[in-house]
Amino acid sequence: MSTRTLRPETAEIISYNPATGEEIGRAPLNTPEEVRSAVGRARAAQPAWASLSFRDRAHIVLQARKIVLAELDEIGKLISRETGKPAAEALSMEIVPGLDLMHYFARHTARLLQPNRIDIGQYGFMGRSSQVIYKPLGVIGIISPWNFPWATPLAEVVMALMAGNAVVLKPSELTPLTAMKIGEVFQRAQLPKGLLEIVTGDGATGAALTDVGPEAGLGKIMFTGSVATGKRVAAAAAKHLMPTVLELGGKDPMIVLEDANLQSAARAAIWGAFCNAGQACASVERCYVHESIATRFIELVVKETLALKQDNPAEKEVDVGAMSNERQLQIVEEHISDALGRGARVLTGGKRLKTFGGWFHEPTVVTNVDHSMDLMRDETFGPVLPIMTFKTDDEAIKLANDSIYGLTASIWTGNIARGRRLAEQIEAGTVMVNEVVYTHAIAQTPWGGVKQSGYGRTHGRLGLLELVSPQHIHVNRLPFVPDAWWFRYSTGAGLLFRSLAKRFTTGSILQSSLLLPQMIKRWRERRD
Ligand code: NDP
Repeated sequence: MSTRTLRPETAEIISYNPATGEEIGRAPLNTPEEVRSAVGRARAAQPAWASLSFRDRAHIVLQARKIVLAELDEIGKLISRETGKPAAEALSMEIVPGLDLMHYFARHTARLLQPNRIDIGQYGFMGRSSQVIYKPLGVIGIISPWNFPWATPLAEVVMALMAGNAVVLKPSELTPLTAMKIGEVFQRAQLPKGLLEIVTGDGATGAALTDVGPEAGLGKIMFTGSVATGKRVAAAAAKHLMPTVLELGGKDPMIVLEDANLQSAARAAIWGAFCNAGQACASVERCYVHESIATRFIELVVKETLALKQDNPAEKEVDVGAMSNERQLQIVEEHISDALGRGARVLTGGKRLKTFGGWFHEPTVVTNVDHSMDLMRDETFGPVLPIMTFKTDDEAIKLANDSIYGLTASIWTGNIARGRRLAEQIEAGTVMVNEVVYTHAIAQTPWGGVKQSGYGRTHGRLGLLELVSPQHIHVNRLPFVPDAWWFRYSTGAGLLFRSLAKRFTTGSILQSSLLLPQMIKRWRERRD
């Protein structure tokens, strides 16, 4: 089974079901010229869209939402077949958050992007006022990965459209059909032509999009994917001084303190590590448990893991499906093998499952791990839960922060104040207390990382602000009074500027009022 593109003879990519190896459909392999044309069409369509009211844009998004609701099961099955994940997971982790986000941004973008007045302090007493308005960027290029092929691009498409932009979406070559379904839904919702262009293909197609540049109308690239590709995208965009948002990988730690509810923490750990077959950027990739509760916690984790059902998700109700591609499965095997070579112990799982046709790996629990192992340093992106112990809170924080990544983290404790205090010490874009993974599903909260997990944000108001250009509009209502700092620089001017430095910059109205005689003198000096 191969997921590679056929180029250039057939000019198509083939999408396979990773759970069975069967072909499920084909999509065009768009050339760089076609990518450029797609950006051109989007650019041409965008101004009319930006001139619509938020209510009119919301109407289309809500129409699309209705179509998704009417086709929940069909869409869930498509996602399941293209990724290998259980349809239940496609529903809970992709479709439900997508519907919620569509509703939220359709209803609230107008408020979130309302022009806002800025308090400019004492300049306000001089008849001035300032306001920031938010203008669409034009065309947003969205490049998305295969692990959440519906939820990740859909959220960005909705936010970009609601902010008045057009979109060119490049999905992963492994999941083009799911992206094409997003396109079809919006088309049926009567989104005007050109506003959502989908370019399918491989990495070269993505590279072609980053090469288009702002002069051809592209305002920003929203990239979600690996650190290595993220760096390539940033370098390509930098050539055009094109801004980017990079949502990259993670090596997300979970810390279980001695006062945590162990049963909940154990269940959270296995869901956090094995949902989506461990292929979530926010997956629990490292678990640190206080040594005093480690034995009990590990017993619970192993027991819960053994109870999970794994099979072809299309045929049975299963908990853990297939991995989405063989390369990722090989990385998992390499990490486990490296860890075993350095003294790690596999408590359950540990192997590729050959009983099914596709790319399956057993949910795996590993102990005796340390930070010399790839399993604790590099993103594994598979169903593996390595568990290590710690003695003190400081040690736990040190271990959590000993990573090039900083996407999410979680702390488990019965003491919320302690949890919050420790959360603030962790280097990550999101830290959850007594929760794992799921905040990407909250439309209102920002999502993004620090360190090599990327920069910029998506979701929430901060995410929306990435998709607009803030413009400052400053008004002087007293244009007939020349500013004190304009020409000419007489001796009187020098004295006034010294006084400004001493009094005006204190921010005190009383101090500034003492400047009035000098100001009047300066005004008269220039009037004469
Ligand atoms: P990749 O970086 O391999 O690919 C991401 C996207 O970039 C794909 O559409 C890919 O196309 C495209 N691409 C490949 N080469 C280029 C290029 N030179 N220029 C522009 N685009 C290119 O990531 P994966 O698809 O393997 O996704 C897994 C990664 O995504 C993990 O590291 C995961 O942590 C991260 N991720 C991060 C999230 C976050 O929110 N921070 C969320 C989800 C995943 P193609 O597939 O066709 O090659």
